[in-house]
Amino acid sequence: MSEPTIFEQIVAGDIPARVVYETDTTIAFLDANPLAPGHTLVVPKEAHERLRDLPDEAAADLWAAVDELTPRVEDAVDADGLTVGVNDGAAAGQEVPHVHVHLVPRFDGDGGGPIHGVAGGRPDLSDGELDDIAGRIERD
Ligand code: AMP
Repeated sequence: MSEPTIFEQIVAGDIPARVVYETDTTIAFLDANPLAPGHTLVVPKEAHERLRDLPDEAAADLWAAVDELTPRVEDAVDADGLTVGVNDGAAAGQEVPHVHVHLVPRFDGDGGGPIHGVAGGRPDLSDGELDDIAGRIERD
């Protein structure tokens, strides 16, 4: 058995968190190192590392919680917008190997950027390459 993740320990009540939402399957709490006031993490209680690992029901509950919480988080801190993001895999910057959705309140002039900045330089793809990628995604 691998070590329980920090989020499993929060789910189990073994370490404290500022919980703002909880159902049988899903929990949300304030990020301990917030990028903005109100930065919230939405987490399936069952431990799975990647979005692709989540059972359908857990995934549906997770995204329903995101849908419910986005206006609540934004309004709670009087934000002007919200960035919703998942670091899905180590290559994407995931540090805690337990699925979680970041809700990061955004403010006019906060100095942050859009999610277009996350992937480094933009690739120069031909029409053929784009068609090929689209076809492979469609088949999956
Ligand atoms: P990620 O890089 O997507 O895996 O993000 C993990 C997030 O978990 C970071 O934003 C951390 O600040 C946050 N985090 C780590 N430990 C805790 C904790 N004990 N309570 C709340 N948030 C945490």
